[in-house]
Amino acid sequence: MGLFDNLSKTISQVGDRAKFEADKFQRTTKLQGEINDLKRQIDTNRLEFGDRAIQLYRAGQIQSPTLGELLKALDALQASITLKEEELKRAQADVYIEPATPPPTAGVQQVPISTEPAAQPTSAGAAGPVAGSKFCSNCRFQMPTSAVFCPNCGARQGA
Ligand SMILES: [Zn+2]
Repeated sequence: MGLFDNLSKTISQVGDRAKFEADKFQRTTKLQGEINDLKRQIDTNRLEFGDRAIQLYRAGQIQSPTLGELLKALDALQASITLKEEELKRAQADVYIEPATPPPTAGVQQVPISTEPAAQPTSAGAAGPVAGSKFCSNCRFQMPTSAVFCPNCGARQGA
């Protein structure tokens, strides 16, 4: 009857449409993937082109103020990365410092570079480091013996 006919017609239309949409999705996805792949190849070639242009410019075989400016900008960015990487290394070496003992005044006490293992905890003195801590060889900041870099001045600590 009318109702059943309409219903099955609708179901069949839905099926056709779903298939159409699935095919369309497959086709467009494939094309989009191919376009992206070609774009990636262009990027790669551009990078190689740029590296080669830099070589030639540095060798004096290309005269171009524009290239010179671009290269200056690249060098500045590279320098920023180097600085940030050093900062990152120090940040990664940061350790939490107990705020208990204030650091001793600079120059008052000389801590030898090579110390005996701190087997005995030093008894309390205001000048000595508490057990498990040491002083920065550069700024005298107190830090755990495990610290590789001074949390205060960033100086690398001896073994
Ligand atoms: Zn320090």
